[in-house]
Amino acid sequence: MYDLIVLGAGPAGLTAGIYAARGGLGVAIIENKAVGGQAALTAEIENYPGFTNVSGFELTSLMQAQCEGLGVDFVYENPVNVHLDGDVKRIETSSSVYESKAVVIATGALPRTLGLERESALTGAGVSYCATCDGAFFRGKPVAVVGGGNTAVEDALYLEKFASEVWLIHRRDELRASALLAERVKASSVKIVWDSVVTELVGENRLQSVTVKNVKTGETSSLAVNGLFVAVGQRPATEWIKGLALEDGYIVTDDEMRTGIAGVFAAGDVRKKSLRQIVTAAADGAIAADSAIKFIYSSAR
Ligand code: NAP
Repeated sequence: MYDLIVLGAGPAGLTAGIYAARGGLGVAIIENKAVGGQAALTAEIENYPGFTNVSGFELTSLMQAQCEGLGVDFVYENPVNVHLDGDVKRIETSSSVYESKAVVIATGALPRTLGLERESALTGAGVSYCATCDGAFFRGKPVAVVGGGNTAVEDALYLEKFASEVWLIHRRDELRASALLAERVKASSVKIVWDSVVTELVGENRLQSVTVKNVKTGETSSLAVNGLFVAVGQRPATEWIKGLALEDGYIVTDDEMRTGIAGVFAAGDVRKKSLRQIVTAAADGAIAADSAIKFIYSSAR
């Protein structure tokens, strides 16, 4: 029986682990993929205080080492049944059952898809949701990125290092990305295709081209690319959750990261919030752990 189980080992979950362990709790972090979450897939982070430039993998590895140094257990299993009601929380994985007095949900978010016909068939065969993971496969080849947010712009700038040509396809005539990133991409060799969406993925076994439609004129054209990096935002990983208030799929919490169930807290990208950054995920994790500590000590009295 742990005091606290943290679901998810991204920056929010890892920070919750650090704060809860330092607060005297016995903590396990359960992760069904790799430690670091989406942050670990980011090649260059320039806005985490104290680091002018650090890779997401390095930053989250440091957080993991900090957790391990404080005695946090890491469990690499997939939760199949989660019982959050009651004084004892039960997390069932395919091989074990874990129990705790409190739970922090820090399961983050997953990349959104475009919903195109051949998208899943061509995923891993030209279509990718992670430029840092797959960019190097496209050395000397033409690629496109879809999206206009920070991720899309960062991906396009990252892919410039490998690809022969990089297009950035955005559905509007203005980027959503921060002014600094927008300026950087406009000054780069990335060719921005404004007011346009991808309507078709062409290629039998591998992506060979995409059909692009201008949403203002209705004109379509073919763009010969071997890689298409989809960066059109994220959706929270909350399909499995029962009994918690969600808004657009995101868990609703108060300022102390409390959900509607006693002893259950949420932190990071999975939570309804206005700014999804590594630093805000870490801050959520610290607050959630502090709330869990207070909850456990007040329940014991
Ligand atoms: P985002 O900010 O939600 O941007 C998604 C982009 O995809 C938008 O430009 C959106 O267009 C476009 N889009 C959405 N659905 C689409 C569709 N079906 N077809 C075509 N385009 C579509 O997502 P994100 O860039 O992944 O960022 C997520 C969060 O992480 C944000 O809060 C972001 O600031 C943060 N982040 C920060 C950094 C950093 O600070 N360095 C880096 C990465 C991510 P519209 O603009 O028209 O809505």
